Amino acid sequence: MKRLIIVSNRVAPPQPGRAAPGGLVSGVLDALRNVGGIWFGWNGEVDDAAAPLGQASPQLHPLAGQGADITLATVPLSRQDYEDYYCGFANGVLWPSFHYRSDLARYDPCAYAGYLRVNRALARALRPLLRDGDVLWVHDYHLIPFAQACRELGVTNRIGFFLHIPFPAAQVVETIPPHRELLRMLRGYDLLGFQTERDRLACIDYLYQQREAQPLSPYLLAFGGRLVRTGVYPISVDVAQIQAMAQQSRHHLLDAAARASGRQAILSVDRLDYSKGLPERFRAYEHLLEQRPDYRRKVQFIQIAPPSRGDVATYRRIREQLDASAGRINGRFSELDWLPLRYLTKGYERSALMGLYRQARVGLVTPLRDGMNLVAKEYVAAQNPDDPGVLVLSQFAGAAVELEAALLVNPYDHAATAAALARALDMPLAQRRERHQHMLQVLQHNSQTQWCRHFLRDLAPVQLRQPLVI
Ligand code: UDP
Repeated sequence: MKRLIIVSNRVAPPQPGRAAPGGLVSGVLDALRNVGGIWFGWNGEVDDAAAPLGQASPQLHPLAGQGADITLATVPLSRQDYEDYYCGFANGVLWPSFHYRSDLARYDPCAYAGYLRVNRALARALRPLLRDGDVLWVHDYHLIPFAQACRELGVTNRIGFFLHIPFPAAQVVETIPPHRELLRMLRGYDLLGFQTERDRLACIDYLYQQREAQPLSPYLLAFGGRLVRTGVYPISVDVAQIQAMAQQSRHHLLDAAARASGRQAILSVDRLDYSKGLPERFRAYEHLLEQRPDYRRKVQFIQIAPPSRGDVATYRRIREQLDASAGRINGRFSELDWLPLRYLTKGYERSALMGLYRQARVGLVTPLRDGMNLVAKEYVAAQNPDDPGVLVLSQFAGAAVELEAALLVNPYDHAATAAALARALDMPLAQRRERHQHMLQVLQHNSQTQWCRHFLRDLAPVQLRQPLVI
């Protein structure tokens, strides 16, 4: 069996007692458990004393208890690298632009140079650990140039790239000043994987428009003198594991009095990020309370929003905006015995979260743009199939492609979102079951295991009947 080398911005294996950072982690471990290998990337620490990443050699730690030989290989980032690569270009330009928020992108050529510098340094750090036949799977927008940097060091192994976030329309990509140089570097990969067909088509459309690549077949490109395959692999969740966690959880979403009075909970869980549509969602809930006084006291909206990327200015601003909006809603509608909105800016362990999903009558997931949105899938997986809650889902989340039995909404339309909330709260049991059953089947079919398996299958060399001339 070939070893698998996972490369992601952050190497963050699950640790007891800490909020897990997301589905990437369990997906990655799932893939590694089968064949063994290395998980390589940043250790999450910013080392003020360190010089910018240059000759760093990774620290190696075996990951115990996984049933396969897995090594974590990590490097710290210097303050300068963290500011340029992580905050400056990856999260200051690529994240907003790829989520259609070019207005929030702040391009700085020094930060872009730092992004390229760190990608090259990471490739140099990994190089000595690589063996012939290793297969590399690189994750996400932080690492677009990584394969090209490896190729420049003489690496000939198969390298695949999976983009977890949306790939926007060509005109939006063009707002990124060095877009051409940057996206040309995708030619170092053998496989480009996307969450949805819309993302895949947007990427190849951009590459064709820029005359960087030519189509050889619907899924094969001639790109920079190489053969590059593209594919769609929607990331997913482990339904059985989530069911088990949801059943075992001892946490209560509502307090005892609220439960006794039959109050229903609407639950949202998001990193505190402007792409998640939180102000628009608060506005929709406010609209529901305004227009439908009969729901007051009967519902409680719980928003869990762990802060993230606090070193990026746009993230501090969204937090201030939400603090004000939550205060206004509670000031306006609260009663002595009813708090309409509980807004919690802290994270919860996954196991606790799954139990909370199960108790919520409505899962409200309304990002303005999202690559997939695992919370939507987790909410569905955690439900009690005999008495399931209803998912209200943004049409702009990648998950909407598969979860079409959710109540799909346009998150910019607060009146329509409020109407969907009312419909979800009133939905009869038979309809709730039918919709839930449909979505559960989709998740069981497009499982987390399939995500890994299909990506790695397509990363194997393409067998051509005739030699290719490009
Ligand atoms: N999550 C968590 N604790 C929290 C909030 C979120 O473990 O307090 C997890 C959540 O279960 C999900 C992930 O973080 O697996 C968020 O993934 P998603 O795709 O929804 O959004 P992202 O944060 O990757 O943009």
